[in-house]
Amino acid sequence: MLRQTYDLPGSPQLTVLRFGAAGTGKKAYLQAGLHADELPGMLVLRYLAGYLAELEARGAVRGEILLVPQANPIGLAQTETSFLFGRLESGTGENFNRNYADLSDLGSLSLAPDAASNVDTIRAAMAAKLAATAPTADGALAQLRHRLLTLAHDADLVLDLHADNEAEPHMYVGPALWPAAEDIAAAIDARAVLLSEVSGGHPFDEACAAPWWALAAAHPGLPIPPACLAATLELGSNDDVDPERAADQATALLRMLAGRGFVDGPSEQPALSCRATALTAMAQVRSPVTGLVVYRRRLGDHVRQGDLVATVIDPLGAETELLAETEGRLFARHSQPYAWPGRVIGKIAGEVPLDSRTGNLLSD
Ligand SMILES: [Zn+2]
Repeated sequence: MLRQTYDLPGSPQLTVLRFGAAGTGKKAYLQAGLHADELPGMLVLRYLAGYLAELEARGAVRGEILLVPQANPIGLAQTETSFLFGRLESGTGENFNRNYADLSDLGSLSLAPDAASNVDTIRAAMAAKLAATAPTADGALAQLRHRLLTLAHDADLVLDLHADNEAEPHMYVGPALWPAAEDIAAAIDARAVLLSEVSGGHPFDEACAAPWWALAAAHPGLPIPPACLAATLELGSNDDVDPERAADQATALLRMLAGRGFVDGPSEQPALSCRATALTAMAQVRSPVTGLVVYRRRLGDHVRQGDLVATVIDPLGAETELLAETEGRLFARHSQPYAWPGRVIGKIAGEVPLDSRTGNLLSD
């Protein structure tokens, strides 16, 4: 294992753990804690790093694997309120998982009728664009975004480990990568898989994966495969720091890596227990009013359209019923049961695209 650090102005360093060797096979990149208050993935990658170090010592790592267990040193240092404030950058209010560079805009490319050579050409152009756009005078946030994308852009597999306020494991991935990513969803025992070509706001996983299908659409006569399988994995609830659960998830990710040829070892996985659905069919349960949220359904419940999901109670006034907009699994709720107009207090993985789901499809 090689440990590398990168400086960020005014921030603790970013640390990258490297296993295997570049240029000897495929490349995998896994990071956790881009939203710095989403904790379980950091422990999962800590355990996975231990497993990989053992395998590497036995010569059982193929290709190259990069782990970034704490992808957001800036957010981890935002402790002024005595509560880790890790989703947004406190100075700018910007979401740490938005506004990554568009690597589909590469100028003119000399492409060929050969997929493998096109992958090489496009990766070289992406690397050149990243090198040419390296921030110099910009702040730590711009440098962090650029560094993470530079580390990941040429990987065959990119997994961005997040968590939700209170949630079952679930996954966001592009439709071009489904069902190719089914083993990854199975590894985290996902209870929802949300498919979206463009979810809005330029999150990290789409910055890695989406250029490939954008370029394929722009060059319809030439073979351009979805060469970067990137997905956002929501491993559970933000505060799930449970050693047994993290070790299980790390073991399952290791088996997935074995199944994909990154390491030697057992690769059997349990079958995925849900079907993939469109992100436009995922209902966000939003409160129109202020008050205490009293949930009427549990996490993992199957709800029908019109079912009562929660009641918002104004301690000084009215009670408001929040009904399910669609039928499906209630896979996420909010850990802080207080609402105000527009606040999302639940997510339901439905089957039918909803008129309400246009524009930015992710939470702010
Ligand atoms: Zn997140």
